[in-house]
Formats: sequence, C-alpha cells, structure tokens
Amino acid sequence: HREPLGAEQLERALCQAKDVDAQMEQLVGLLELSEGERRLRHLLVALFQEVFSEFFPGCSVLPFGSSVNSFDAHGCDLDLLLDLEPTKSLQSSVRGSPGAEESILSDIDLASASPPELLELVAAVLRRCVPGVRRVRAVPTARRPVVKFSHKQSGLAGDISVDNRLALHNTRFLRLCAEADERVRPLGYAVRLWAKQQGLAGNPAGGGPLLTNYALTLLVLFFLQTRSPPVLPAVARLRELAGNEDHVVVAGWDCSFPRDAALLEPSANSKSPSSLLAEFFHVFGDFDFSGRVLSLREGRALPLPEASELFKLGSLNLQDPFELSHNVAANVTEKTAARLGHCCRAAAKYCRSLQYRCKSAKGRGWGLVRLFQPGAVEPGAGAASFLITIPMPAPRCPEEPGEGFKEICAGIAFVLRDVLRCRCTPGKPPKQLGAPGVGQSLPEDPVGGKEPPGDTAGEEEEPLQPATASKRPQPDGMDGAALPCAKRPRVNGPEQEEEEEEEKEEEVVASWSCTIWHRVWTGRRRLRRQLLHGASPEEPEEGGDSLELEQKVSEAIVQHEGAAQPPEPLLRFEASARLAGGGQREPRVLLRLTPSPAPGPLFRDFFHFLQAFLPPALRRHLGWGPGADP
Ligand code: ATP
Ligand code: MG
Repeated sequence: HREPLGAEQLERALCQAKDVDAQMEQLVGLLELSEGERRLRHLLVALFQEVFSEFFPGCSVLPFGSSVNSFDAHGCDLDLLLDLEPTKSLQSSVRGSPGAEESILSDIDLASASPPELLELVAAVLRRCVPGVRRVRAVPTARRPVVKFSHKQSGLAGDISVDNRLALHNTRFLRLCAEADERVRPLGYAVRLWAKQQGLAGNPAGGGPLLTNYALTLLVLFFLQTRSPPVLPAVARLRELAGNEDHVVVAGWDCSFPRDAALLEPSANSKSPSSLLAEFFHVFGDFDFSGRVLSLREGRALPLPEASELFKLGSLNLQDPFELSHNVAANVTEKTAARLGHCCRAAAKYCRSLQYRCKSAKGRGWGLVRLFQPGAVEPGAGAASFLITIPMPAPRCPEEPGEGFKEICAGIAFVLRDVLRCRCTPGKPPKQLGAPGVGQSLPEDPVGGKEPPGDTAGEEEEPLQPATASKRPQPDGMDGAALPCAKRPRVNGPEQEEEEEEEKEEEVVASWSCTIWHRVWTGRRRLRRQLLHGASPEEPEEGGDSLELEQKVSEAIVQHEGAAQPPEPLLRFEASARLAGGGQREPRVLLRLTPSPAPGPLFRDFFHFLQAFLPPALRRHLGWGPGADP
C-alpha cells in the first residue's frame, strides 16, 4: 500500500514541468494507481468473489467507481457491487429440492429479504469470513445502501452495494469518455484536485452538501460536450452509435452506448488541456446553476422542467446521463453552489495571469501548483487558515456545551503538546465575541491561554461566501471533515453584515501560539509497528488506539532527528478553538490553524496529518470511545 502523495512532493514535481499542459499530464501520472496497486485491487476482488460465492452461489462481485473509471488516485476507495440476481433465480429454482436446506440459501429468502436484512447478511459474511477485513458496518439509510469496510493489509477502504447495476454502466461511460479523447483525464484530474482543495467536492455518495466526485466528473464531461466544436459527443449521440450488442436497459433506463471508443468520431476541437481548464473555470464562474438543467444526454443546458415531480430541482441541477429522473447534485446546498461559482471565478482570474501560464524562474509555485493551494488564488484573501471540525458527542450536549468545550480544549492542548511535541503558549488577550446574553465564561485554558487571537473576529466557517448566498442554517454534514479556507477580505457592505451575523454564533474561544520543531507527522506508521514489534494483532487506528504509544512514536522521531534543538522551528501557527453550533446544528468545536508565514507544502502536510490524527486521539484521550463519533 502506497502512502498518499504528500503536497510537498506533488508541488516539487509539478514545478519542474515545462508548461501547464505538461503539468496536467504529470498530475495524472503522479496520482493514478500503479500497476501493483491495480493488481492488489484485482486480488481483493477475487478474494471477495471466492468468499461470497460460498454463501451466494452464482453471485458476482464487480468493481465500479474510481478503481475502474479511469479517474483513479492512490488510496481511492474500492466500490464493489455484489450482484445477487443469479443467486435469487437459483434459490427459487432449488427451493424444496433435496439438499437445499444445507446451503445458506435456505436461511433467508433473498427475493423477499428487506434491503437492511440483506445488508446485515453481507456485513456478517464480511466480518466472519473475509480475512483482513475490518471495521465492517452497514449503512442502510444512504440513497444507495452500502456495507462499508476497510482492509487491513492493503489499507484500502471500500463499500459494497447490493442493488446498483446502474453504477456499472455509468462507470463504463466515464471510462469510454476518458478513452475517447486524451484531454479528458488530465482535465478530470485537475478539476477533481482543485475542487477537493477548495472544499467543494469529496462527499462519498452525496452524504453532505458537497459535490461527489462522480457529479464533479459529469460536470467536466458536460463542459466538454458543450464546447464549440465539442470535445465529447452527447449521450444521445452515443446511443445512435451503439451496436446491437451494446443495447442495454437497466431499471427502465436506456444505458446503450458503444463499448469501444474506436467507434467514436474524433473531436474537431484542437484546444490544449490547459486552455480547456481555464475555459472550464470561465464558463462555470458565470453559470446559472439553479435556473437550468445540465443534460449530458442532450449535451446542452435545458430550461427547468415545468412539472418536476421526480427530478429534484436544487441549487445545481445536473442530470444523470442514464437515470434521467436523478439530479446527481441534489444534495448540493445553495452555499456550496455559490462557492463553486465564486471559486471558479477566482480560478478563471488566476488562469489569466502570468503565474498560471509561465514557469517561474525563481522556483516559485506556478501553473497548477497555485491553483491547488487552498484559498491561495482567491482575490483579496488574507492569511490562509485551515479548519478542523470536532463534533461533540451527544452525551456532552446540549445541557453543558461550555463544559464539553473546556474538556475538548484541554484535550487539544494535551495532544498538541504532550503527544505531538508541539510547543504551545497562550494566545493574545481575551475578546468576548458573543453577543450580549449569549456569551459564556471563557474556559480555563489548560496551557494558561484564555484568549482568542484578536484578529479572528469576523472570520467565518465558510470562506468567501458571496453575499447572495443563503443565511439559513444548512444541515451541512461537514462534521468531522475539515475545510481549508481563507480569511474573508475586510470590506464594508453586505459581506460585513453577514460576518457580524456569524459572530453572534461564537460563544467561547481559546487559543494558542504554536511552533513545531520536528517532522512528527512522517513515518509514524512504520515506527508504530516497530514499537509494537508486531505484538498486537490489530493495527491501531491512527491516533486513536493508544496515546502512550503515540507519545513514544513522537519521541522516537525527535530522537531520530537528533535531540539537539534545531535553530528555527519548522512551522509556526496560531491555533484557536471555538464552540459553534446551536439552533438546528450539532454543537462542535472548530479548531482553526493560521500559519505564518503563508502556508507552504510542509504546513499542508502537517495539517492533513492533524486533520486525521486529532479527532480519534481526542476521543481516546477524553474517553468518548468510538461510538462517540456521530
Ligand atoms: P472517489 O475517488 O471519491 O471514490 P469515484 O470516482 O469512485 O470517486 P464516487 O463519487 O465515489 O466517485 O462515485 C462512485 C459511483 O457512485 C459512481 O459511479 C455512481 O454510480 C455512484 N454515485 C456517486 N455519486 C452519485 C450521485 N450523486 N448520484 C448518483 N450516483 C452517484
Ligand atoms: Mg468511489
């Protein structure tokens, strides 16, 4: 299993390319799965197939999604479909025949089993019979119910869904598009990484307010269909090109298109990938997402349907290419759609600059590198800051959120200082940010700091939200996730008012000035293993299993780097925690890190580490247990 590519490594490699087109090509090479990784996935699928066949004779285990859709990246999840249709037919044909009661087929009638029953059965097989599989849990409430799992030896996370044949065809459609024109993959990878860095995409299966990677990829394909001349044909045109053997209907939806990309006409559009990328941002920077339906079937934006009983209209209307009644962006909130437009405008502006087009002679970030820096290209952005959201477990709220907050602050200081060997000193003098009546007493800061940095006033959770965006509380599903973001520009006008609105939500604040002297975020996994001497049968969850062990790991890193104090810290940042939530939102603690000077790749690597490490470490330290994670 390969560690995900660090931001530093990626930037260094991209900076050396000769131009933006070369960067885009290189990006694909840096992110895509290696032959070995592909083989490993293949073996895992074969293992699942073997085990499930024992229980469900005739079934097939079929991969879909990023492992096979041509938009794979190191560490991407493994989406699997367990097709039980053949088993169901078999079951109905053998019922009552001698010997049938000995097989699992007699235990449960697959045809009449409810989806949750079926999922539990799949989960039970996974738990008991597939070697190396961990953390199995059924998620029956998702739009497409799945069983989640992770695989110990490969470090892969995956989903198994039972009834989702459409996914096989939309995966094959993405792959066909990637094969049809060699600009599709570079563009897809660049837009995916950009959107991830801006906090616009990444929810698995549409569970939150962000675009899923599938929806984002469809947006790229729609863009390519609507160029003049088009880079890709519309799905309706593909249907015409389909041969007899390509005709298929799934759940009533026509999924016919050629299997072979050689049947498609080559595009007459000769633009370079880098200019298409700039054009993508230009087009969607100024697009009426809520007033039209983006139709990949027709390859154009349609007026809103008159009666839209089935198609769920929203802030972004993107029609599935096959399941025509499905808006793949139905989960996207008004706020996210507005931010998508805003981030596209900022990116389009950056793409017009020399820094995008010309390689820096002084070794500074240029081209894609700056595009991928969170908040870096947003005009008027102040110091970039990075947010980690720590959900408060239900028993801690709502009676005494202030108490829970104190405890969390003590925990944050403990993890930073005692587990990660970071030096923390109290922040700047206190400033009560709450509106009269809602403010609460400041918590006792465990490291002596009771103070927010004075300049956090006016920050808000979502960066650069245009004034037109909704103020309604949104069930944003961001808990546990982190949004890299930038401070808002200080301007008067509607935006200012909104910042003040937001301030009233702030209740209690704690802050620290921190310095990091050692690369405590690298090589932890290996050291952990060495320290355990392979004695523990279960690999500990990062940061979550034993904090004593984590302390030893940090100590080993410090020793290894030479115990002598380096002359300068590697990183400096302000950390401030505040309690947020209330009303319809879950109480949660927002930890904001503001590095100075401006964040480089080293800081980003540290941040991504802390984002994964801190929440489970806190749970462990505060004794919340794994169930505390909502
Ligand atoms: P990732 O690397 O994030 O796993 P991915 O390429 O696998 O990316 P996902 O968004 O996980 O993309 O989508 C995998 C499959 O899940 C898609 O092929 C599609 O069938 C289904 N899917 C994902 N999002 C949606 C959605 N919004 N609506 C309908 N189906 C979706
Ligand atoms: Mg996936």
